[in-house]
Amino acid sequence: MEASSESPSPEVLADGALAEVLQNEIVKIGDLRRNRNAPTHYEGIYRYEDLKTIGPVVCDWSLALEAAGFVVHGNLQANVELECVRCLAPVVIPVALQIDERFVFDSFVDRSEKEKELLSDDFYEVVDEEGELDLKDLAHQWLLLESENHPLCGRAECQF
Ligand SMILES: [Zn+2]
Repeated sequence: MEASSESPSPEVLADGALAEVLQNEIVKIGDLRRNRNAPTHYEGIYRYEDLKTIGPVVCDWSLALEAAGFVVHGNLQANVELECVRCLAPVVIPVALQIDERFVFDSFVDRSEKEKELLSDDFYEVVDEEGELDLKDLAHQWLLLESENHPLCGRAECQF
């Protein structure tokens, strides 16, 4: 491995400061259910090893408790660097995603219901009501899906 001669960039220092913001990215579902004062708003600032981004991935989360589960809304913004599918040049894609996911507590769903879910348009995820929801991971899933859109760079040869 080569030793890096670079001094820490301001970006690295900024990351250190961001670490504090990241502490609350795991939602304890039992807490959300029982504690009326549990946080329902999260500001996520993320980075992923398998996704090249210019600057951090930023996501504003809000959670709303329902009778049988909860709904998660996320407003995600990132600049993802992908490869042009024609010439493989790097292309930076600004991504703005409205994340909407409904989670239903395990105890409200019987087995046959779980199977129906696979066929239903009204998609929801079943969660353990004492489990945890990793918001960083949820944002990651949506970003990976978005990255499957095949990007093209700006060169005329690639556009047509
Ligand atoms: Zn290209």
